[in-house]
Amino acid sequence: MKKLQAITLFLLVGFLNAQTDQRIYDIIEAVSAERIKNDISTLAGFGTRHTLSDTVSTTRGIGAARRWIKKEFDIISKSCDNCLEVTSQKDLVKSGINQRITKDTWVVNVVAIQRGEKYPNRYIIMSGDIDSRVSDPNDFTSNSPGANDNASGMAGTLEAARVLSNYQFESSIMYLGLSGEEQGLFGGQGFAKQAKEKGWEIIGVFNNDMIGNIKGVDGIISNTDFRIFSEPVPPTETEEERKMRRFYGGEVDGTSRQLARYVHKNVLTYMPEMNPMMIYRLDRFGRGGHHRPFNDLGFAGIRIMEAHENYTQQHQDIRIEDGISYGDVLEHVNFNYAKKLTAVNAINLASLAWSPPAPNEIGIGGIVAPAVTLQWSEVSGAKGYKIYWRETTSPTWDHSRYVGDVTAFTLEGIVIDNYFFGVSAVGENGFESVVVFPNKIIK
Ligand SMILES: [Zn+2]
Repeated sequence: MKKLQAITLFLLVGFLNAQTDQRIYDIIEAVSAERIKNDISTLAGFGTRHTLSDTVSTTRGIGAARRWIKKEFDIISKSCDNCLEVTSQKDLVKSGINQRITKDTWVVNVVAIQRGEKYPNRYIIMSGDIDSRVSDPNDFTSNSPGANDNASGMAGTLEAARVLSNYQFESSIMYLGLSGEEQGLFGGQGFAKQAKEKGWEIIGVFNNDMIGNIKGVDGIISNTDFRIFSEPVPPTETEEERKMRRFYGGEVDGTSRQLARYVHKNVLTYMPEMNPMMIYRLDRFGRGGHHRPFNDLGFAGIRIMEAHENYTQQHQDIRIEDGISYGDVLEHVNFNYAKKLTAVNAINLASLAWSPPAPNEIGIGGIVAPAVTLQWSEVSGAKGYKIYWRETTSPTWDHSRYVGDVTAFTLEGIVIDNYFFGVSAVGENGFESVVVFPNKIIK
């Protein structure tokens, strides 16, 4: 008995001090390539999911697709004692608002919320897209399976809900199917606007758009490379904040970038076989995605996607031309890769939903001194705090120090000019918030 107690204590202490948490490995393990395959097949099977397509049919068009997605969330919810609040959100987009909306169209998003126990109004969001398109963006009748773009992201979102609904979290997780992406990011726009109006605290958005292709048009085949796009600073920053950056830094340290670093680090910890590539830009060159409307309103958000795109397999009429098979069909999707990127999302949703909120105010001082002082607002629910720093040219937070349950700390012997600094909050369970860049100067 005594021995058992000692072992239990040892395990408990080990657990509290652990660098990793077994549940995160369990989550990775639980994601199923088979179920993702089934869901992508079902979505591709609706013929077209074009935003302007039929909404009445039960077998073809975007109406049938979104009703099926809602039904799937309902099924998941039933098996977790109604742990998901499944709803939809819609906006009427008027004909002629741009060239891709040729008739008045209801853009309908499907929403499933797994309510957090401690912070029910804090959300971390995973999204995929319901809609698809072919060569002509306004062709809403031709077959448009959109297997990779973006049934893969939608299927990943459903599968993450299946896996994570077996756990309870402190913050809320939202699983989101967005429409109107290909016609002008309308679903994201409407949803982000509603979130802003309702005053939701959104920690971050993981926009998944094309997570299933491993054969690049560049000839590279990789089932481990993937990209995390993040913009440098929020477009909502004030003129004053912009001026401050000239003197105190922060050009590459906006909230979306910190979210990207969080995902990057967590993946290297738990899925070291993967190669996450942080891309220092909002999205691909001149192209868009559904994290942008959230960024536009000041919410942190990133795009998670394959690293090697194949342009003959996206936005294409299905055809064979010069021996090349064009079209976004099921045969081009690698389900095991989609499973891996779904796991990337799931472990980061879980880690953030298990972590305390980040400190919202961080002061920094140390001008002409051989030490740096950081000071932050207290986070209720945090066990302590971690200070991070890195060389100014490094993309990742390479140095850190856990400083315990204090709200100020001085790092002796470190010159403020030569590094960038940040602070995170750490929970009792070991999970950690996103790192926050200083937003105040201590004189
Ligand atoms: Zn697309």
